[in-house]
Amino acid sequence: MVKVYISQDKYAYDVHSLFKAFFSKVDVKVVPSSGDFFEDSCGDEIVYHIDVDVDKNELKRNIYKLLSKETGKELPWGNLTGIRPTRIVMNLLDEGYTDDEVRAYMKDTYFVSDEKIELSLLIAHREKEILKDIDYENGYSLYIGIPFCPTRCLYCSFTAYPIGAYANIVDNYLSCLEKEIDYVAENFKDKTLDTIYIGGGTPTTLEPHQIERLLSYVYDKLDTSKVKELTVESGRPDSITREKLQTMKKLGVTRISVNPQSMKDETLELIGRRHSVKELVDAFKLAREEGFDNINMDIILGLPGEDERDVAYTMEEIKKLNPDDLTVHSLAIKRGSKLAEILLEKKADAKGKGNILHGEEEEALVMSKMIKEASEGAADMGLLPYYLYRQKNISGNYENTGYAREGKAGIYNILINEEVQSIVALGAGTVTKRVYGFGGRIERCDNVKDVKLYMEQIDDMIERKRQLFS
Ligand code: SF4
Repeated sequence: MVKVYISQDKYAYDVHSLFKAFFSKVDVKVVPSSGDFFEDSCGDEIVYHIDVDVDKNELKRNIYKLLSKETGKELPWGNLTGIRPTRIVMNLLDEGYTDDEVRAYMKDTYFVSDEKIELSLLIAHREKEILKDIDYENGYSLYIGIPFCPTRCLYCSFTAYPIGAYANIVDNYLSCLEKEIDYVAENFKDKTLDTIYIGGGTPTTLEPHQIERLLSYVYDKLDTSKVKELTVESGRPDSITREKLQTMKKLGVTRISVNPQSMKDETLELIGRRHSVKELVDAFKLAREEGFDNINMDIILGLPGEDERDVAYTMEEIKKLNPDDLTVHSLAIKRGSKLAEILLEKKADAKGKGNILHGEEEEALVMSKMIKEASEGAADMGLLPYYLYRQKNISGNYENTGYAREGKAGIYNILINEEVQSIVALGAGTVTKRVYGFGGRIERCDNVKDVKLYMEQIDDMIERKRQLFS
């Protein structure tokens, strides 16, 4: 354990996050202390005493320098611990900073590596260009959550119920969504609906007539004349059929995702995806046949048993399919996922080479090689980075990056990531955000996660939104 005594607790969260970035595999405890308490390191416990007598940036710089010297490590994102590093760059550009001034600021203030500074700059410029027609003040986006999946993946911590056991409640669930859509129709009629994102879960677990029912209701009740993008996540190939694709195409869906996570059958089996690579390839080709010209694929780096050679293989196989958009996630082991339980019990079968058996430094090295393979592979397919975010517990302190072909970037992904527009979220386990203008404050309200409770308490879910937007 690493124990950190700090003289004031106001920056305890930031101090904890920064220590965790250096010591991701050990427990870190931050303890506010009056300063007269002193304890030396003992056994396998390392003790630090931090005096908080400077501002937050200075404090984080000092801690970074200390830990970097002691561990011999430099972190790609320097002392930045937040999840939206590109937002800082966007704000600086908005304030009139030149690219060189941004570079100097990111280096001097946060010790960000040159590689990540260039990546952030590239993304920030692209985001500004993609969002130039978005009305932040008077527009909004709509998220609809479908919390059902064919089976539950081991790494999943989302609201996801196996459709087999829950098929009999889907129609009632759709009725509840319709109630929420009625609320939106009544309360956002003077606003511009910019994007619609139907996610989950796996929305394509719905039957074709259920997809039709949902989308038709959206069209009937809301003004969709200005909608720039309508995404339906079709992530699990084992949920995709020609009829569902035809229904979505007929009803104006512009963008879908067909997600492999890995193009190796052994890995898919290990993480509980319950579909083969062949099924994925067939589903992707079916979507192309049915006319979808904006297909996203998601992959995950750092899956059990995989290293950079597996990522290189996955990228080669994906290249044959030529997707328009690719999201590269670094595995974040989330509490509540089955995978977290397995890792905790050290039962995962890593087949002798998986990153979960590596030490911290080796893991970071493997992750950086995997990220390099993925970014080079994306560039090779003509895909450029357009959004980026970090998560807590992300492997090797890295990030998730979205790549897309020119004109195919997912606008909703940027809006939710940079938190620059209000998003009204419907369905179990979703979170609505009210954004008070670009860079303004943000308030949230959530819908309960449990799908049955959501349906029972639907009026309360709507009331929460009414209060948030009153
Ligand atoms: S498809 Fe996605 S939401 Fe569904 S179980 Fe797997 S990770 Fe969770």
